Amino acid sequence: MKAVRFHEFGGPETLRFEDVPEPVPGQGEILVRLAACGVNFIDTYQRSGAYNVPLPHVAGQEGAGEVVALGEGVENVAVGDRVAYTGVGESYAECVAVPAARAVRLPEGVDDATAAAVILQGMTAHYLAVSTFPLQEGHTCLVHAAAGGVGLLLTQIAKRRGARVIGTAGTEAKAQLARGAGADAVILYREQDFAAEVMRHTRGEGLQVVYDSVGKDTFERSLDCLAPRGYLVLYGQSSGRVPPVDPQTLNAKGSLFLTRPTLGSYALTREELEWRAGEIFGWVADGSLNVHIGGTFPLAEAAEAHRRLEGRETTGKLLLTP
Ligand code: NDP
Repeated sequence: MKAVRFHEFGGPETLRFEDVPEPVPGQGEILVRLAACGVNFIDTYQRSGAYNVPLPHVAGQEGAGEVVALGEGVENVAVGDRVAYTGVGESYAECVAVPAARAVRLPEGVDDATAAAVILQGMTAHYLAVSTFPLQEGHTCLVHAAAGGVGLLLTQIAKRRGARVIGTAGTEAKAQLARGAGADAVILYREQDFAAEVMRHTRGEGLQVVYDSVGKDTFERSLDCLAPRGYLVLYGQSSGRVPPVDPQTLNAKGSLFLTRPTLGSYALTREELEWRAGEIFGWVADGSLNVHIGGTFPLAEAAEAHRRLEGRETTGKLLLTP
């Protein structure tokens, strides 16, 4: 079968579209013929070597499609089922072997491409807004990169929980998308001092929480946006890694909380996975959560998808189709 692999760490050019053996599902695994694979920032970190993986490595870790074979001991999933999954490697491929325990069956009303687009970023937005800092009416939050993959979903979920949302975006076109997702105000953070703007929008009171996926370029000023005892939820690093932080800074800026969460710790059990995925797919199916697919590329053009994502050129989600 065809897959996208890298044999050394480096830029997008290291991604090679090549023949690899089709995986054989092992004990407890299912073989999924992929209709769509999700592109995520973590794929670029693995490709560049920022996150270590064994080489050669088939990129990707999210997808959706049809179950075409079962390994031993698999119950509750049948050949012909449509499923989506995340957190399982080797996904930029025609087929992938997935532990059945990681796969979620797709309801009617959620097509494969939408499922591949939303399972990782949707569950991320879900745990951020529902569990890490449970938003409610009366809260104001800042969502950085609000026109991005997680950003658009987080904005919508924050609104459905009754919070006021201030977003940041790199361009006016992106700001418009974020407003369309429900953001009450959007700051063009490449032109404006976003911390000063947040203080203006909150009459100097500051925010209960900042959801920061940008990292190095925003971290310091994100702290300056918070009200006393506010939460900085640093969940990504699109601009680069944040340098070490002195805990005393949190004291000086008003007894702040800092956390660096990851989806793995918020989908710990089968129950938790089914709950988060079930809510996300339910909202997609009933039309209350919009999934913006900003680009779809053939598998062979994965390198171009990575270039655009790293080049800050994308909105919403990028997909690859085998
Ligand atoms: P996005 O769609 O948000 O894409 C990244 C966006 O970040 C860009 O479009 C850009 O938006 C903004 N950005 C700001 N500075 C830079 C820069 N120097 N280079 C590139 N982009 C920049 O990506 P995702 O939603 O997929 O992911 C966002 C972050 O969240 C990533 O770091 C990812 O690893 C992380 N993540 C973490 C998870 C977790 O559980 N912890 C799960 C999922 C994602 P603009 O032009 O508007 O500034």
